[in-house]
Amino acid sequence: MEVCDASDNAHWRLGGGRIRVFQDIIEQIQERPVPVNDLGPDIVLWKHNQNDYKEFFSATRTWEQIRVRRERVDWSTVVWFTQAVPRFSFITWLAIKDRLSTGERMRVWGLHQECLLCGERNETRDHLFFACPYSYMVWLRVTGRLFGTRITPDWQDTVARIRYDRRSKLDTVLVRMVFQMTVYHIWRERNVRRHGKAWIPYEKLTSQIDKTMRNRISSLKYSYGDKLAGLMRRWFEVTM
Ligand SMILES: [Zn+2]
Repeated sequence: MEVCDASDNAHWRLGGGRIRVFQDIIEQIQERPVPVNDLGPDIVLWKHNQNDYKEFFSATRTWEQIRVRRERVDWSTVVWFTQAVPRFSFITWLAIKDRLSTGERMRVWGLHQECLLCGERNETRDHLFFACPYSYMVWLRVTGRLFGTRITPDWQDTVARIRYDRRSKLDTVLVRMVFQMTVYHIWRERNVRRHGKAWIPYEKLTSQIDKTMRNRISSLKYSYGDKLAGLMRRWFEVTM
């Protein structure tokens, strides 16, 4: 067997030795002590934390080490929560970031788009949710008594109220769920109209959202005694 002297760079001339990343790797390898057989066989260890190595792999521990931590955004609980439906969360997230391709954003591409729900000249995120008379009627009807007199057509106020108003546990979940479903259904109705398909009146959209709410609540299957078991009863209370 040929024994190589690790200090001899002739054996490590990767990419001509000019690439910085290879130089770093070479330096790190050279700093390592040479394995000694007497100390036992080589084993694989997974890094769980700084100076904490274990024989088993942990996805959580690994993720915690490679993730880039960012400041928690104050709307995160409005978008991501246990009872949410991913496709509704996704559209809500786009709406919060103002990334839905509304008329206002389409203007950059030289296109003009008026509000397809009411005919208002300029379609913006804030108009669609819920300054538009059509969407506001849907929002008013579908939230029932959850918001009471504090309901507003203003987007920023709505998101802030969902986030900060004090409510019971059940109402907190219901408000977030119904908000996402309303945003999703209004955006879908807007796209249906944009593609020239048959549109529906706000009463019908309202009952579609109500039905989606009931289906979602049933699918959650909270058992008797769970603190969220009363979700459906509470939904009936505030909407009937
Ligand atoms: Zn409108």
